[in-house]
Amino acid sequence: MGQRIKIKALLQSGETGTEVTVKGWVRAFRSNRFIALNDGSTNSNLQIVVDFENTDPALLKRITFGAAVAITGTLAPSLGQGQSVEVIASEIEILGDCNPDEFPLQPKKQTLEFLRENAHLRFRTNTFGAIFRVRNTLSFAVHQFFQEKGFVYLHTPVITQSDAEGAGEAFHVTNFDLANVPRTDTGEVDYKQDFFGKSTNLTVSGQLEGELGAMALSDIYTFGPTFRAENSNTTRHLAEFWMIEPEMAFYDIHDNANLAEELLKYVISYALDKNKEDLEFLTQRLLEEEKQKPQNERSELSLLDKLQFCLNNDFERLTYTEAIQILRDSTPNKKKKFVYPVEGWGTDLQSEHERYLVEKHFKKPVILTDYPKEIKSFYMRQNDDGKTVAAMDILFPGIGEIIGGSQREERLDKLETRMDELGIPKDELWWYLDTRRFGSCPHAGFGLGFERLVLFVTGMGNIRDVIPFPRFPKNAEF
Ligand code: ATP
Ligand code: MN
Repeated sequence: MGQRIKIKALLQSGETGTEVTVKGWVRAFRSNRFIALNDGSTNSNLQIVVDFENTDPALLKRITFGAAVAITGTLAPSLGQGQSVEVIASEIEILGDCNPDEFPLQPKKQTLEFLRENAHLRFRTNTFGAIFRVRNTLSFAVHQFFQEKGFVYLHTPVITQSDAEGAGEAFHVTNFDLANVPRTDTGEVDYKQDFFGKSTNLTVSGQLEGELGAMALSDIYTFGPTFRAENSNTTRHLAEFWMIEPEMAFYDIHDNANLAEELLKYVISYALDKNKEDLEFLTQRLLEEEKQKPQNERSELSLLDKLQFCLNNDFERLTYTEAIQILRDSTPNKKKKFVYPVEGWGTDLQSEHERYLVEKHFKKPVILTDYPKEIKSFYMRQNDDGKTVAAMDILFPGIGEIIGGSQREERLDKLETRMDELGIPKDELWWYLDTRRFGSCPHAGFGLGFERLVLFVTGMGNIRDVIPFPRFPKNAEF
């Protein structure tokens, strides 16, 4: 057998009349004659024509759905519908048999729930092939965007010291024998005896360390795994997810919002360009899925239209205070349709409120700024009104919050006062405070949840379907 060529390349530029070798998994075998072969490079299967009269019947029997095969043959123009070329096989080798009676996947539509339980095999379906190729493109596009702008990719630690924000969402990291945890004289866990000599966690965000980098390199970004032990069984939360966190010296909140909007548009446009076929497939998938829903619950725009729409429109920018006014006056609020009624200024927005603003009121992505300081983190820059901070959340249709960010408090006295008010231990964050002591400067940054981005671009409904092996409460299989 000759040198293997991938199916995508073959379909794009194969010369008919030449001999080719392809390898992949059988998606279908019809009439003992036509193999639909897929190797994951594209959703388009390659048709292989088998000369069954001159092939050993024992070999033909082993060409089953899911089997891995290597085939050599001549590339020829196809007479059949649905493909321009096909391979007239001269040599067939079974690389891995696949017993159809035992193989969990079947050559028919299977539910996303079933495929989630078989996440080790779901890559072999068209839907998941498309999702993970799009995910790959988006992650490459993120790097390309920042690299073109001269940002430095900074690897912030995965193991961090005590959860500084005290949100209680961090997973503990310990080397203790849990059946025999050392205790101090007063009965507390004696972390001095633990591996790091102190209590440690998996990171919930690389921001604080990212800021340290920005205060010298000017512009940095992180793109790494993030862990949150929040017990939220939603379609938008994972216990392990990937976050992109740029941090820029000399940026204010407006520069921050501009960069975020530019980034989102860049990566979406990149995927539209590079993964046209996959996104067309996913658009079709969503249309089929929505046919099951009542008319009023179907989206007005198709997936491709929605992505295009996002590129062609400026994101709506308004303050939290303006948003509260809109929500208070909204029909669902007056008719008591919200699970959480919008009453006064100062409460946090629920996902239902965010989605109302984006999907019903503005019908486009929204950038909300200047939230009450009580509902935001200690490091956000305090506005002159004494009530709000320079926070910025970006809300997307079907998703809600996709980005959370802010201009950071660069003034040492203001930062320390706020930390004292919130009871955040300054001694633990001495290194963070040092940047405000030595050459402090205005700076800003944000966190983009990578899976929420993939969710939006692929049109999938559950975040567990856009990461290869999702981690969520009571699940760490595979
Ligand atoms: P939410 O209110 O939706 O839980 P958050 O306010 O906790 O989000 P941030 O702490 O601002 O989120 O994190 C930045 C971004 O990380 C969010 O905008 C979101 O895109 C993403 N994100 C946060 N938590 C999760 C999670 N558990 N799973 C996946 N993505 C997440
Ligand atoms: Mn959260």
